[in-house]
Amino acid sequence: HPENGDSSPLRTLCADLHAKIEAFLQEDVKTEILKSVQSQCRHSLSIISEALEKYPLTSLSLSYNGGKDCLLLLLLYLSLLSTHPHLPPSLPAILIPPAHPFPTVDAFIQKTSSHYHLSLSRYTAPSPSGMKAAFASYLAHNPSIQAIFVGTRRTDPHGGELKPFEMTDRGWPSFMRVHPVLEWRYSEVWAFLRWMGVEYCELYERGFTSLGGTNDTVPNPRLSLEGAEGRYWPAWMLEDEGEERAGRIGGG
Ligand code: ATP
Repeated sequence: HPENGDSSPLRTLCADLHAKIEAFLQEDVKTEILKSVQSQCRHSLSIISEALEKYPLTSLSLSYNGGKDCLLLLLLYLSLLSTHPHLPPSLPAILIPPAHPFPTVDAFIQKTSSHYHLSLSRYTAPSPSGMKAAFASYLAHNPSIQAIFVGTRRTDPHGGELKPFEMTDRGWPSFMRVHPVLEWRYSEVWAFLRWMGVEYCELYERGFTSLGGTNDTVPNPRLSLEGAEGRYWPAWMLEDEGEERAGRIGGG
């Protein structure tokens, strides 16, 4: 235990997650999918460890929008913090809310920020393409932040060429983007979240497979329940991973 007598709520949470993930990694799992999830976990944990070696905790933040990929990332990040010598009461995180948020997603973000001890800053983008300006304000108000964990995966719209550590592009406010879950496949994300038994945003139970705003996201038509109009299978039932964003309108 790094600091004797330190039993802050964040440290207790991290220790519980660490124990759970370690137990998963030690388990002699029988299915191919869980074997691949184990190796994805190890790989992601090594990238997060590297970030923790390179950057002091006070300079790290997490880009968090309540989606499945950043939830996965958050769980792995917290588990590694269980042995960190100096934990703050809560961890920096940044949300750029969509122009038309789902109340359900908002509620999930609030609930999980509190449960996982995130100190979540919300920065509104001045226009639909105003992410840059939102990040610029965030960094101007939080000058210690140097690197931000992002839950992008290879199959996301801009995921193709990314490396685990990648500075922002020219014209962007400068910070290191850290992508620990880049190589996870859709089915692996769900296998992990379901194995962990954590709560995820309820829209995923209603056929949404990727979350945006109310103006650009609908349930995934591939999950539509035949003969039951308006009802959908849960996100984790999607078999064709190439269809993950079939519920996103306009390539959002
Ligand atoms: P889903 O694909 O199911 O919506 P997700 O939101 O975690 O899950 P993406 O939408 O592919 O994944 O986004 C990739 C990552 O980019 C997120 O995990 C998060 O780290 C970051 N991100 C995306 N949108 C936002 C946002 N509006 N505010 C903060 N971070 C965001």
